[in-house]
Amino acid sequence: MRSWLPIASLVVLLDSPVGAGPSGPAATKVTLADVGLESGSLDRTSDPCVDFYQFACGGWLAQNQIPADRARWGRGGEVDEKNKLAIRTLLEEAAGAGGADAGTKKLGDYYASCMDEAGIEKAGLAPVKPMLDRALKQKDAKTWNATVGELHKLGLGVVFTEYVIADLKDSTTNILYLDAAGLGLPDRDYYVKPELKDKVDAYRTHVDKMLVLAGVPAAKSAAAAGDVIAIEGEIAKLTKTAVEQRDIPAMYNPTDAKALAKQAKTVDWKAHWKALDIQPSKKIVIGTPKFFTALDKLRGAFKPAQWGNYFAYHLVHAYAFALPKAFDDEAFELERVLTGVEKQRERSKRCVDATQNALGELLGQQYVAKYFPGSSKQTASQLVDALVRVMNDEIGGLPWMSDATKVIAQQKLSKLVRMVGFPDKWKTYDYAVKREDFAGNQLRAAAFETHRVLGRAGKPVDRTEWHMNAFQVDAYYDPTANNTALPAGILQGPFFGRDRSVAANLGGIGMVIGHELTHGFDDQGAQFDGDGNLKNWWSKDDAAKFAEKGTCVADQYSGFEAMPKTFVNGRLTLGENIADIGGVKMAFKAYRSLRKDAPKVYVADGFSEDQQFFIAVGQAWCAKERPAALQQRLITDPHSPPKFRVYGSLRNLPEFAEAFSCALGTPMHPAKTCSVW
Ligand SMILES: [Zn+2]
Repeated sequence: MRSWLPIASLVVLLDSPVGAGPSGPAATKVTLADVGLESGSLDRTSDPCVDFYQFACGGWLAQNQIPADRARWGRGGEVDEKNKLAIRTLLEEAAGAGGADAGTKKLGDYYASCMDEAGIEKAGLAPVKPMLDRALKQKDAKTWNATVGELHKLGLGVVFTEYVIADLKDSTTNILYLDAAGLGLPDRDYYVKPELKDKVDAYRTHVDKMLVLAGVPAAKSAAAAGDVIAIEGEIAKLTKTAVEQRDIPAMYNPTDAKALAKQAKTVDWKAHWKALDIQPSKKIVIGTPKFFTALDKLRGAFKPAQWGNYFAYHLVHAYAFALPKAFDDEAFELERVLTGVEKQRERSKRCVDATQNALGELLGQQYVAKYFPGSSKQTASQLVDALVRVMNDEIGGLPWMSDATKVIAQQKLSKLVRMVGFPDKWKTYDYAVKREDFAGNQLRAAAFETHRVLGRAGKPVDRTEWHMNAFQVDAYYDPTANNTALPAGILQGPFFGRDRSVAANLGGIGMVIGHELTHGFDDQGAQFDGDGNLKNWWSKDDAAKFAEKGTCVADQYSGFEAMPKTFVNGRLTLGENIADIGGVKMAFKAYRSLRKDAPKVYVADGFSEDQQFFIAVGQAWCAKERPAALQQRLITDPHSPPKFRVYGSLRNLPEFAEAFSCALGTPMHPAKTCSVW
């Protein structure tokens, strides 16, 4: 391990830059491995100015195949896999430990119950049978309401869904939100677009088989599957598109319990809240008003028995993993169709997932204690500070924004709360975990978590709460709290490492941090003020220029052909693309400022430090994806496919073209570029 260049010197450079002397810095020759980058992942035969993704990742792409049990495979997946194995060890130890503390016992029991395949087979349908019977035996509005309530209590959003987050216009208070829900396919587009009909057909077959397993007579199952798809088809027609759902003001339609009761009479709202054991907030916000207006008609358009089939399918599908193998295999069949994945993942890894989902912060505590070096928290925090300083300067120097708007933008940035590594206080999980009852554990976990969240309606927001687990290889920005979180899970290679150079760390984790900071100012984030309220702080003129710059980005990405004749949706991905372009730019400037006046510069296998930075950016995104998974992503995912994240963020940055001497007019140095921040 080398620690000469990276973190030790990074800290020095943050606090007190060392002068380079009159003759400029001396160049020291090192290898890419020395700075934390991978020579073998490169394809040096390709021209970085033509296809930088191929240049940075060509070697990796040639050496890596997508594992049979994965829909996609990339650098994040590699770290995730490594993490899972580490967590599995932790859970296996917990499961085997006698006389452990209560938390360890809970984790161990949960994991052990999931691994107990014989016990699960033996229990059969019994754990969900009473609920399933009630779901199938539909008679009238009363039974319909009772089943909707019972399933919602488990967080299963059939027909519609409710959730509780901060009031977008009063970020100190949690309120209840309602919207259309309950589709079995990944998006409403699947039901309405003719080119996705093959997926609906496969879904129909799957629902049919699932219902037979649930006890629907084989002679009736095809018609029953038809019921499910007919109901979902009607819900889909009333559901907003993924792009429409990004329009925050249009999704914010305040109402209250009284008006809601008039709008959607078919739901017995009083009984509904009682079933969920919560009090609704005074203000309730509806995402799609036309859906709730149409709800009475929707319920009446189908017979009780048809609704029964719909409810039954959603129940057994949601709990398939906790039911006998035949259910689990059939649930996988749907995944196979939708993503192209060939093989079910090892049970132990899926049990790691199940335990993570159920007991995330309990597991997070143990993960952090065992695997997260405390010093990483401080170093990563310093990187965040460096990025914030750069962003502040960049906003100050924006040529297109008025001084008045700049001041407000900078105030917003100054209020940003940074959360690194793990939460200060951990959540608890106050429900019984039994070693021989996986289905029961899954049901209790779902009910507990749903109630924890919905029970906050009308109560103050706790801004210290994390919305991601400490072991997750990911990061987020929350516009309602104006805070950003970098979990311990992402603070490792290929994003971050003590033995990586400043250029490699800033190209990796620096880019991620810059991305999250820029989310506060993307087309959605920019609608919130520094206190997390949906409030316009823009002058009319500046807002118009900002929108125009967004259109430039949207149009450019809409020109990226991700599959033959299928393009990236520039409007769906606009926020992420603005964050990518801004994030790489800020990270580059932060890297430059940290290396300013450095006494030595390091040339790694012939690559300058600037070039090392961009190779780190490219190599963070090396990835492969199955065609079906890519198709699904293009419809549902607000992120562009990894390759286009690299193209998009680098071709718009003049410093990239400079670093690789790309002639104007080459693909990575186009004449027309877009920049927002
Ligand atoms: Zn993002």
